[in-house]
Amino acid sequence: MLGRALAWTRPGRRDQRDGDERDVLVTLIVLLGAPGAGKGTQAAALRDRLGIPHIATGDLFRAAIRDATPVGLEAKSYMDAGQLVPDDVTIRVLEERLGRPDAAAGAILDGFPRTVVQARALDTFLAGHGRRVDAALLIDVPAEDLVERLSGRWICRAAGHPYHVAMNPPQVAGICDIDGSALVQRDDDRPETIRARLASQLADLDAVVEHYRGTGALRTVDGRRPIAEVSAGLVGALGALDTAPPGRA
Ligand SMILES: [Zn+2]
Repeated sequence: MLGRALAWTRPGRRDQRDGDERDVLVTLIVLLGAPGAGKGTQAAALRDRLGIPHIATGDLFRAAIRDATPVGLEAKSYMDAGQLVPDDVTIRVLEERLGRPDAAAGAILDGFPRTVVQARALDTFLAGHGRRVDAALLIDVPAEDLVERLSGRWICRAAGHPYHVAMNPPQVAGICDIDGSALVQRDDDRPETIRARLASQLADLDAVVEHYRGTGALRTVDGRRPIAEVSAGLVGALGALDTAPPGRA
């Protein structure tokens, strides 16, 4: 049942379904990083570089619900009830997505797996297709750097215009460029709030990182470097794989 949706095979192995003898190269990448590590930016850069889709979990559910697929509607029933979507349902939504033609050569997963339980479920699912996670790319940023990045957000009192102390500072400190009102910080953006929220997120991330260290898929890139250098580091880390993404030669 599962095999029908996915046109996947091991790199270099002949794909003998329906007599087709193409060699199919597939690169399945899991992108790992804490909030604020720059995962979204790097996922887009990798997508453009490798020509394989970036599959972010939030988009995945939105698309499945929009298209009203059976498993999408199942996921929606949990979300409507304010519950977490169970891992087995998420895996089936993912399977549906990976079965689409644009993912035939691989995909970049972003936001899944988030826990070791999910990582193991993903491994089991992929093993059923003779596949595995080829690379788990970690954009590594120390916790205090993350706090600094994430706590730099300020908004103006009058209209909520957003600023960031490092990335998008106002011309005059503490004053909105547009309407001159005072800049304030939301409770969610205060360092102590962010530090508390990060603690649990980083614990989950660390466990997933250890999981992929164990499978041998882990590659780590220093996320404190400039964006272009991080991108180059991620692509370089993929160069160490035995599966070459298409069009990279
Ligand atoms: Zn303003």
